[in-house]
Amino acid sequence: MQRFACAVCSAPLFFENSRCLACRTQLGFHRGERAIAPLDDDGAYRDLEGQVLRRCVNLKLSGCTWLVREEGDECFSCNLTRTRPDDHDTTGLAQFLDAERSKRHLIYELDGLGLPIRDRTEDPDRGLAFDLLSSVEEKVVIGHQNGLITIDLAETVDSHREKMRARLEEPYRTMLGHFRHETGHYFEGTLVFSDAELTGRARDLFGDDRASYQDAIKRHYDEGAPEGWENDHISMYATMHPYEDFAETFAHYLHICDTVDTARNHGLASGPGPDTTEDFGTVVRETWIPLAVALNQVNRSMGANDLYPFVLPPAVVDKLDFVHKLRVRVGGTPVGSGTVPA
Ligand SMILES: [Zn+2]
Ligand SMILES: [Zn+2]
Ligand SMILES: [Zn+2]
Repeated sequence: MQRFACAVCSAPLFFENSRCLACRTQLGFHRGERAIAPLDDDGAYRDLEGQVLRRCVNLKLSGCTWLVREEGDECFSCNLTRTRPDDHDTTGLAQFLDAERSKRHLIYELDGLGLPIRDRTEDPDRGLAFDLLSSVEEKVVIGHQNGLITIDLAETVDSHREKMRARLEEPYRTMLGHFRHETGHYFEGTLVFSDAELTGRARDLFGDDRASYQDAIKRHYDEGAPEGWENDHISMYATMHPYEDFAETFAHYLHICDTVDTARNHGLASGPGPDTTEDFGTVVRETWIPLAVALNQVNRSMGANDLYPFVLPPAVVDKLDFVHKLRVRVGGTPVGSGTVPA
């Protein structure tokens, strides 16, 4: 995440701010400019191209500050959500607000990495879309199918998520992590499986994705991860099926890129970052590991759990490098180079 400051008074801002807490200026996020813009008294911002923009219609509903061209419009990020809780489901709507915040963070990062997002208008059958569902009254299974990502909003509730994390023996479980993992499935479908050579290389690294997924689920929940899994997988869940290994690796690629980027922007890390043209192992060795060790120690100093409770063996670094090269290869121009309007 980049470092934001108020254009009026220079106070530091968070990505989520709808108002500057120092000078009270109303703010909106401009996707194309990748900047937080000050709004005038009418709630409008005239951008670098002279367009007059206003905030997304979902400001109150989901805390969305992204700018749109027409009053009453939904922004690009909100528009990706196909289903949300009903207006009468107050519990679900409160959880929806938290989930949408994580989703905007995800879209912001994908934009910055130049990973191409096609929505359902562009690709009605396989475009990216989200069902953000409340499990208050029905069971919801988190997952991905043909670009459609389903999220259980109960995962925004700390007590529920922690219970699930402990039950599944996971060292890390967050809403942003769910979004990153599920979009990994989306990008494997659109970027890897559309290319025979890449599909072959993915099978060499992650295993043959044609293996039965149903058998894999049964084996995983009956027997758990195989002995020695930590030598070539980032998590126990990644051992279940090659699809899950790719999605877990992709999520870690996003965790590392975002955290390195944030640390560099705040003067907390030097060394190569996500824009490197070298192997991703260089970023891991020279930037990420020293940073992760320091951040884990900082958390321990606060009596908190490790920020990054994972070990990256060489086989996993090779998988991260596959994702990195894939992204560099297919990544178009990152959003923010004037290619995308609001
Ligand atoms: Zn200000
Ligand atoms: Zn929005
Ligand atoms: Zn998955």
